[in-house]
Amino acid sequence: MKYDCVVVGSGPAGSITARFAAKTGAKVLIIERRQEVGVPVLCGEGISKKIDEWNMLESRRWIAGDMEGARIYSPDRTCVTLSAEQAGNETGYVVYRDIFDQELARLAARDGAKIMMNTQATDLLKDKDKIKGVKVKHFDEEFEIEADIVVGADGVESKIGKWAGINTTLKPKDLETCAQYTLTNIDCKDAYCDFYLGKQIAPGGYVWVFPKGKDVANVGIGILASLSESGMAKKLLDNFIANEPRLQKGEPIRFLAGAVPVTNPVETTVQDNLLLVGDAARHVDPITGGGLTHCLEGGKIAGETIGMAVEKQQFDQETLSVYETGWKEAFAKKIKRNYMVKEILLDMDDKTLNMLADSLKDVKFDEISTLGLIKALVLKHPTLLMRLRPLMKVSKEV
Ligand SMILES: Cc1cc2nc3c(=O)[nH]c(=O)nc-3n(C[C@H](O)[C@H](O)[C@H](O)COP(=O)(O)OP(=O)(O)OC[C@H]3O[C@@H](n4cnc5c(N)ncnc54)[C@H](O)[C@@H]3O)c2cc1C
Repeated sequence: MKYDCVVVGSGPAGSITARFAAKTGAKVLIIERRQEVGVPVLCGEGISKKIDEWNMLESRRWIAGDMEGARIYSPDRTCVTLSAEQAGNETGYVVYRDIFDQELARLAARDGAKIMMNTQATDLLKDKDKIKGVKVKHFDEEFEIEADIVVGADGVESKIGKWAGINTTLKPKDLETCAQYTLTNIDCKDAYCDFYLGKQIAPGGYVWVFPKGKDVANVGIGILASLSESGMAKKLLDNFIANEPRLQKGEPIRFLAGAVPVTNPVETTVQDNLLLVGDAARHVDPITGGGLTHCLEGGKIAGETIGMAVEKQQFDQETLSVYETGWKEAFAKKIKRNYMVKEILLDMDDKTLNMLADSLKDVKFDEISTLGLIKALVLKHPTLLMRLRPLMKVSKEV
């Protein structure tokens, strides 16, 4: 088997990369270890409406709920309301992630990519140090797939980067441990994604309620791995639900557990004959844990870069670095700024979070920039100046 490009992983990052590479005429294969694209779902299923502007999806079958905005609750339940445009990359639509992923895979196939399920990459195929493809296991059969370019779209647990010698290790302080129920028989008539903060509620993270209908919602929790022990995420989530009147009568129709990288992006995402995309490249917003928009944005740049490399028949790091320059321009500064915000928020006790929420509850967010917001906060609470000063510099640049 010989392809121009083999993409490891059929998540959103893999499918979008494959689609835009195949569109240029490149011979592309996606391999996926699971037996169904997008299943099991490991996601809160929130995504920004920014994706409408990108025109990357055709049907609307993947939309479960159309959100008006987000409500962020401080530990004392002071509520800050944000419009969908301002609420970050997890608020806009609540999706059916299985249908969403399958739709992206369908479009990749339509544009020429091949898909091989039940196929796990077990190692990189190398000639001395040169990457020549991947070794795979397909059911009980083991064989090699040759390719000029290998794409690591293999998610948070990515091995492709590691096998290529790229440091993708995640420290416990940069990893959120998550648990989520899809609950039915609850009351979620308002079209808002709700986020609940507080050390007792979710140390180093938050609880989310993302409606998928009038009586169905994803109710989940993410807590920092460095602040938690085994089983803690589920226990805290059960506790939250038991104490929340509108959720108490909820019955689960799905449970999931997973992890989200909340770190800075991998600095070097290209090598000769290799690229990393999506969660494998740590393209996740460190505040919200949302990664879907970056998969789409970064995957398109990766696919187009691969197309260009195949046309030129040049697969060296320099040629592929067009992708790296592209994603860095598109969203690296924002991820790095939000990593700083995450660190600052982690340092804040519940009292300070309440104080922040109280200051922000009446702010009209459509009319204020991040920098303006920081200035307004510091004016009201000069004690925050020291903590927020590093953010002022980067916010000028983003
Ligand atoms: C609990 C939870 C809630 C989340 N909520 C949100 C949210 O609301 N909004 C949002 O934007 N983001 C959310 N995220 C993050 C989001 O799910 C990820 O950013 C997104 O899935 C990354 O897409 P990806 O294509 O990079 O990787 P994935 O979607 O993880 O896809 C990787 C694929 O690679 C396959 N694979 C892995 N290894 C191999 C191998 N060796 N061989 C073959 N195939 C392989 C996997 O089976 C998988 O199908 C959440 C994550 C979790 C865990």
